[in-house]
Amino acid sequence: MANLLDTVQDRTYDAIVIGSGATGGWAAKELCDNGLKTLCLERGRNVEHIKDYPTASKAPWQFEFRGTVPLDKRLDHKSARRLDEATLHWALKDDEQPFIQEKPFRWFRGYHVGGKSLLWARQTQRWSDFDYEGPARDGFAVDWPIRYKDVEQWYTHVEKFAGVSGGKDGIAVLPDSETQPGFDLSCIEKHFKESIRKNYGDTRHLVQARCAHLTDPQDIHKQQGRSRCVSQRQCNRGCIFGAYFSSNSSTIPWALKTANLTMRPDSVVHSIIYNDKKGKKGKATGVRVIDAKSKDVIAYYAKIIFVNASTLNTNAILMNSKSSRFPNGLGNDSGVLGKYIAWHNYRGKANAQSDGFKDKKTAGGSPTHAYIPRFRNVRERDTDFLRGYAIGIGGGRGSRSDTDPIGDQLRENLLYRNLGNWNISSWMMGEVVPIEENHIRLHNELTDKYGIPQLIVSCDWTENDDKMVKDYMEQSEEMFEKAGFINITSVDTHSPPGSDIHEVGGVRMGNDPKTSMLNKWNQLHHCKNVFVSDGACMTSTGTQNPTLTFMTLTARAANHAVEELNKRNI
Ligand SMILES: Cc1cc2nc3c(=O)[nH]c(=O)nc-3n(C[C@H](O)[C@H](O)[C@H](O)COP(=O)(O)OP(=O)(O)OC[C@H]3O[C@@H](n4cnc5c(N)ncnc54)[C@H](O)[C@@H]3O)c2cc1C
Repeated sequence: MANLLDTVQDRTYDAIVIGSGATGGWAAKELCDNGLKTLCLERGRNVEHIKDYPTASKAPWQFEFRGTVPLDKRLDHKSARRLDEATLHWALKDDEQPFIQEKPFRWFRGYHVGGKSLLWARQTQRWSDFDYEGPARDGFAVDWPIRYKDVEQWYTHVEKFAGVSGGKDGIAVLPDSETQPGFDLSCIEKHFKESIRKNYGDTRHLVQARCAHLTDPQDIHKQQGRSRCVSQRQCNRGCIFGAYFSSNSSTIPWALKTANLTMRPDSVVHSIIYNDKKGKKGKATGVRVIDAKSKDVIAYYAKIIFVNASTLNTNAILMNSKSSRFPNGLGNDSGVLGKYIAWHNYRGKANAQSDGFKDKKTAGGSPTHAYIPRFRNVRERDTDFLRGYAIGIGGGRGSRSDTDPIGDQLRENLLYRNLGNWNISSWMMGEVVPIEENHIRLHNELTDKYGIPQLIVSCDWTENDDKMVKDYMEQSEEMFEKAGFINITSVDTHSPPGSDIHEVGGVRMGNDPKTSMLNKWNQLHHCKNVFVSDGACMTSTGTQNPTLTFMTLTARAANHAVEELNKRNI
């Protein structure tokens, strides 16, 4: 690993990748596969696959607090809200990166090698042209500079390497993926699927959600040292089988094997260095890093730079990269940097039960769930809101035991648990339309412990989102009723933006440099050797879980960068 005493030459690479999460891992893999000496800068600690999953094989009784997060940890780890004792090793301490919520916003981060690829739920649905054409058709944001045909082969490329399970469903809004056999639906999900088919014909579908888990590992996965999913459903502790895709199990070790990758954890990127002297033909020359342990400032240099620090951090790094050519942030001639932030709308939830299937119970479980692809405003506008929502569906049968008694009765109750009704729950994943007002910016004075300006997040719901939640609740209840379910409820949780963990935008792609930051290859229009291919590049959000599309755009951009480098265009 390079240190302060190294010469500039020692600190010079062909490529630098900022961030080692889901997209940084892909950038590193593709660049290294193409022979580029690549440095991956990661602000968090190192996490080595298997070795650094401390709770992966622990039994429930081996946890000191029986799974709950101890109080002292809750005080300084607000992000621990979504974690438990088994996953607490991924929690971020609040003082690592304070930020300002001008409006309430939940920002869930994973700062370690692998980023949130160790935390994600691995849902991987492709986009279709109903998504890529959305802004142009519905007249919001700006037109995407690409269409499905431009990315189709790259979806396949990513899916084959990562390994995605699921069916071939033949649905226009959800193009088929390159899949391995899907997990079975539960009996209540199968019943609901059949009811939807009977009641809505070809206009609505329930399918098994596609999920980045290996169910039938191929040679390419065995070469990565990964094996089949055994449905332990302890994925978020870190998977010792490498059955689900993470940077740690897949792309990073693969890139390391090429001997072209240097990983530098504990490296907080402060800004990108721009060469002002060359005027309009200027390029970025490197990256300024603060060593998280020593606080030393170190510069690294490269011909191309990939910014994959996750949506909001990627925006922050560009905003903090000021020069006399770019006083408002690198590449920001258009003034759109940090604007048009969007996310997914997970506010709506619904629940129901069935009094049938009493002869069946859940044994084991699938690490994924069922999925109803978007059905609103698909071919024409059929509601009073723009765009639509997909629905996640999970059905299972739990058991209850009355633990109020003591002594023999308590023992009896624990030994012979009561099987309850089958339960089915549903959650919306709505498309939030990007608007200029939903933005992030840097604070003029407040900084974090590394001296980097704090981020101000100013994002809120609009009337479009409210109408969408209402429609989701009505439609969910109707679909549950038609399926004959009982005890139907639905709720608008009014959770703040960000809770859905799918934030996008701020460095959007577009054809016109006056209204966008990136061209169709994810290159900054005005600084061609800098590429942004994480969620920040997204022009709109679609309804699908977004990471497959981020990774696909990254693989495509990295291969284009290599071609451009070889042609000496950058
Ligand atoms: C609980 C949960 C469930 C999810 N489920 C799904 C799902 O089912 N499907 C789906 O599509 N998506 C899901 N997501 C979202 C998914 O995890 C993210 O979209 C994805 O990880 C984004 O990839 P990324 O590379 O942009 O960012 P990350 O994976 O977050 O990686 C970014 C990396 O950059 C590093 N970094 C940040 N700032 C700096 C800096 N200044 N200097 C150096 N390094 C820096 C971070 O430490 C991190 O390692 C989920 C997320 C969570 C939290």
